[in-house]
Parts: sequence; structure tokens; C-alpha cells
Amino acid sequence: MVAKKKTEAESSTKVEVKAEKTEKVDAKSSQSHVESKKAPKVAIQPEFNLALVGHVDHGKTTLTERLSGKWTDTHSEELKKGITIRLGYADLSIYKCAKCNFYTTKEKCLKCNGITERQKTLSLVDAPGHESLMATMLAGAAIVDGALLLVAANEKCPQPQTKEHLMALQITGIKNVIVVQNKIDLVSREEALENYNQIREFLKDTPFKDAPVVPISARANVNIDLLLKTIVEKVKIPIRDTTKDPIMLVARSFDINKPGSKPNTLTGGVLGGTVKQGKFKIGDDIEILPGYMVEEKNKKVWKPLKAKVTAIFSGGAPVPEISPGGSMALGTTLDPSIVKSDSLTGSLVGISGKMPQVYYSIILDTFLLERVVGSKEEVEVKPLAKNEMLMLNVNSSATVGVVLDPSKKNTTCVLRKPIVASPGDRITISRRVGDRFRLIGYGILK
Ligand code: GDP
Ligand code: ZN
Repeated sequence: MVAKKKTEAESSTKVEVKAEKTEKVDAKSSQSHVESKKAPKVAIQPEFNLALVGHVDHGKTTLTERLSGKWTDTHSEELKKGITIRLGYADLSIYKCAKCNFYTTKEKCLKCNGITERQKTLSLVDAPGHESLMATMLAGAAIVDGALLLVAANEKCPQPQTKEHLMALQITGIKNVIVVQNKIDLVSREEALENYNQIREFLKDTPFKDAPVVPISARANVNIDLLLKTIVEKVKIPIRDTTKDPIMLVARSFDINKPGSKPNTLTGGVLGGTVKQGKFKIGDDIEILPGYMVEEKNKKVWKPLKAKVTAIFSGGAPVPEISPGGSMALGTTLDPSIVKSDSLTGSLVGISGKMPQVYYSIILDTFLLERVVGSKEEVEVKPLAKNEMLMLNVNSSATVGVVLDPSKKNTTCVLRKPIVASPGDRITISRRVGDRFRLIGYGILK
């Protein structure tokens, strides 16, 4: 993700590494897990990524905490560092009671204390709903298989970002959408029904017209079991092709070494994200594209990085190999100083020599929306203009493109930072409207 002058694309390069996640991939902490007196924890690889989207304050963070027992919200530590954006991850398993059919995230039934059976294991991706974070939302959309769209029952529906996020889900082609009508503890039955009707009306003309709407209260813990049941029954896990050349989308990259570690004890750089296709195993020779930027003769060029996979983490534990589904991380032989602070966010990892192409400029077949969604007043989307700056998202990366040729069938853009993609890939297009980037359409890479 890249852009200059403190645009949102720029800020989203700072997708922050959560403290919990860092611990999770810390080899030592997972080891102590195994060594503890309890039965060793078996790593269950999450089967899919589910995003939480919706208008700010509608309860995404509260629901993530309710479901996973973890806060993905900004930590005070991060605040101190002035980091405001992060993609939070939290894994959870959904269990069903064999006796009373209650759905829970606990291994013992909360209702009858009966034995449960695991139904699904997934990673939640809490895409922040702050108005300026469309870049993060779009980058996140590339790695998810479905979404929970949170709608607060005590506000009129749709709110601007409710619309914007639904449009983003539509444009990025996400199918498994469950609408979560949250905060029902704050409204009467009549008000909840009226809000439900607004939701249905809003969904009517979208591909999500038949999406389930589940009334809950994340804070008061109401109907969470119904939501879990709906996730188990309605989210269709895509068929994963593990025979293709492996591709991983990097959402974060970090250095897990404690400051001041001796060089001979250093652990290589860690890449966090999701496997899009194929399989990675320990020992694989990987390549990371576009890699890292260097200035050569006053020109920015990107150099591919090569490394070996030394460890794989999934479901909170080390595993020998990994296929698509859920969030994961690769331990590598990369110099930790190269990967720190999410410098490789948006990169693609694959096997050396079997990677998609790096593009410094692109040609698109472009489709624009009629109206800009997400702002209070919905303005018409004007045609692209020569020399206009666009934010472009593909896979988990964001870049800025300057339009050379604005024609619809052959929109040509020169990119500030190269992208790694394949012909036919869908690239979302956002334009600066007022002081932020707004989604205005998409293009198919030629
Ligand atoms: P986000 O911006 O979508 O992540 O929203 P948060 O999870 O931060 O929630 C915003 C505010 O709404 C917080 O003060 C929450 O405590 C509150 N909240 C979230 N869910 C519920 C709910 O189900 N009922 C009530 N009454 N408040 C809620
Ligand atoms: Zn039970």
C-alpha cells in the first residue's frame, strides 16, 4: 500500500502488528504452550477469513472481542507510537453441543455443560470502519472469504459507510455476507423491526438481497449462539486449489526479535497474511515481489527478495505446511530489519520463478459507479481525467496510479509503486473526493 502526502493509502501502510499476534508467532511462546502440563494444543488451521465491516461504532471491535475473547482495538502502546491503523486478526472455533444443539466458541456447552463438536475454525479480520480507512478495507477484502456487515439497530440504515462497505464487498466479489443487526439491547421490539425493514430495503437492489440478518447484542451477549449457527450454516468455504503455484498475500511484516538481541540469536523476518492458492512448506525457496524499494539514479526501483521458509504458524501454533484458509504467518531467512514495521505489506510471496508479473504501469478495462458512495452527499462519478491520481487496490496492496489515458477500455496508469498481479485481476479504483479516497469503480487488468 503506498501513496504520498499522508493520504489514506499512505497511512494504511502502517497496518499494525497486534501485540497478541506477535506473541502468537513467537516460537518461544508456542513452545511453552506445548510444554505446559495440559494436553498439547493441536493447531487447527482456520478454514477461512471472515471480515467485520460496517459503519464506525456499530460494534465491530466489541463483536470481535465477544467471539474471540481478544481485543483487536488499538493498544495504548500503539497509540503512543502514533500508529492508528491496523488489521486485527483473531482466530476462533465454533462448537455445537451434541446434546442441546447450542452453538458456542467454548469446548464445553455453556448451556448444559455437555460435550461439543467443532464445526468450523476461522480467522476474524476486523477491518476498521473509520471513514478514512477505505484503503485498509479494500486491502482486507482481498484476503477474506466472507463478511459480517454490522448495522446498529439504534440508527437509521444505511449509514454512509454501511453503504460504502457493502459496495466494496460487491465490487471485490465477496459472496458470503451475513448482516449482523447489533445493539438490539438499545431498542424496543418495534424499533428493531423497523430497522430490520430498513436493512431489507437497503439490501433489496444488491447481490446480497437474500443475506441472513441476525439480531444480536455484542455487548449484552444476546443471540451470539444464533450468529455462530448462521456462520456455520451460511458461510460456504471456497474450494481451494492446492495444486496451483503457491501465492501468499502479505498483510503485515515484522521483526519478532527483542531489541538488543545478539546477531547470532536473531530470528528472521516474519510475514503475516493469507495463502491465496497452493501450499507452502518449511524449506521452500520463496520470492517476495515487488520486494523492497531502492533509489537508483534518482529513480525508485523495486528489487525482489529471496528467502527460505523456516517456520509456518497457523491456528496459534507451528505447522509443517500451509494451504489456503485463515490468517497465517511465515518465518523466513529475511533480514528482520528489511521486513520490520510492515514494510512488505501488500507484497506477494511465491516460489522463485513461478510468480505473477510485476507491473510499473497498467492498462485497465474500467467500470465506474454512477455515484460516489460513503459520503453524506452522494455526488455523481465523473469520468476519469488525464493526469488524475487514483488509489488502486489489488490483492492486498494499494498504490497510487496517475492516469495517462483515461479512456474506458484502455485506462492507462503509471504506478507510484508497482503491483504484482495477473491479467484478468480486478483492481478497485478510488478517487479523492474532498479530503479522502472514495471507491468509484474497478478495472480489469489487461
Ligand atoms: P466499531 O467502531 O464498529 O469497532 O465499534 P465498537 O465495537 O468500538 O463499539 C462502539 C461503541 O458501541 C462502544 O462503546 C461499544 O461498547 C458499544 N457497543 C457495541 N456493541 C454494543 C451492543 O450490542 N449494545 C450496546 N448497548 N452497545 C454496544
Ligand atoms: Zn448443551
